Amino acid sequence: MRREELVMICTSDIAGQLRGKAVPARDFEKRRGTGVGWTPTNIMITAHGPIAPSPWGSREDLYLRPVPTTAVRLSIAPEGPVESFVLSKIMRLDGTPWECCLRSFLERGLTALEAEGLRMIASFEHEFALQGIEERPNSPYNFDAFRRQGLFAEVFTAAMRENGLEPDTFMPEYGPSQYEVTMRHAPALAAADRAIMLREVARSVAHRLGLQATFTPLLRPDAVGNGVHVHFSLTDLAGRPVNHAAEGPAGLSPVAAAFLEGIRRKLPALCALTAAATISYLRLVPHRWSASYTNVGLRDREAAVRICPVFRPGTEETALHFEYRAADAAASPYLVLGGLVWAGLWGLRQKLEAPPLTTADPEQMSEQERTALDLRRLPGSLADALSELEADADLKAAMGEILHGVYLTHKRFEEELMAPLDPAEQCARYLLAY
Ligand code: GLU
Ligand code: MG
Repeated sequence: MRREELVMICTSDIAGQLRGKAVPARDFEKRRGTGVGWTPTNIMITAHGPIAPSPWGSREDLYLRPVPTTAVRLSIAPEGPVESFVLSKIMRLDGTPWECCLRSFLERGLTALEAEGLRMIASFEHEFALQGIEERPNSPYNFDAFRRQGLFAEVFTAAMRENGLEPDTFMPEYGPSQYEVTMRHAPALAAADRAIMLREVARSVAHRLGLQATFTPLLRPDAVGNGVHVHFSLTDLAGRPVNHAAEGPAGLSPVAAAFLEGIRRKLPALCALTAAATISYLRLVPHRWSASYTNVGLRDREAAVRICPVFRPGTEETALHFEYRAADAAASPYLVLGGLVWAGLWGLRQKLEAPPLTTADPEQMSEQERTALDLRRLPGSLADALSELEADADLKAAMGEILHGVYLTHKRFEEELMAPLDPAEQCARYLLAY
């Protein structure tokens, strides 16, 4: 059988899907500049297939321009296909970025952050389930659960390393057949690229081994959630960390304090971007170790933003960092990180004071205690989160009117698609998509 390798030029979209077009690998060089043609309405294709009402209809043209640092090539078994893909930016025919290019949304935020003398470093921590592995109740952190995934972890680690994803840890998580993987941190744009790449590498390796890797936010209504936790910190333009000040609350520098408070105050609207499925809101409830209030918590795994521990005393200056926990893999990493950057930036520009820090469970507090700490419950549904996003003039300005409007239309249409289904059926649908 003759074979010819292809490279798929892809974009991570509002539905959190990776879509694109493949070209023969030997033509890739000459397509570096103009990539492949693309249709604006594609961004309205929901994770479930049907297309949300599109302002462009069948009209207009764009192209996907490859980002060379994001090439992934997987040749897992000699007899299997080579999977090769590259991420891209969506460009207008005049060579400027399209206003609905999600990577550009993040890039614009990072450029604005640089204008304030700051950069962000980040890493996405992923939980996922491996379908096809025997589920046993003893599995959390269990060595036998690690063994049961067979070759997956080793092949996955090798494939990550080969493609520049810098593997960090791998573990059997709390849910039966649930696993977690972490990567080394990277500059924010690369971190978001890598999150997209990692999901596809995991899916590909699992597929080759007769398994299915799913990043769906929730397998079933009663299952343990698959969170995406975003670790981040700030540096100055020379790369020196600027998060710590010994005298600050919980050791937060004024810059970190304002940035975190910006995120905290924008949380209800941010959820629309970071927890983008209807079933995301079954996960964002108290006592699921996800996030359920607008709180910044000191070393608390139920805080929406967690101030992470510093393991070696004396390394606070370089090691202090933060974790956003109200995200899942239904959202494009560009929207997740872009949302965090723009919200943090808003906090900086407003010169906000440090967030009220929680050290106790907001769910157990009285209404007065919660009010004193300005704790609001996170939105209870995607519809509620979308209303918050709609009303947020700052995030609207950051996204641009067109992307903001298109996002709301897309996600409200998705909400309508899911409305007739009960939670279990919705989980089953999302399982097919992620
Ligand atoms: N599975 C939890 C979530 O949905 C996170 C558990 C943990 O790693 O702390 O976010
Ligand atoms: Mg975890």
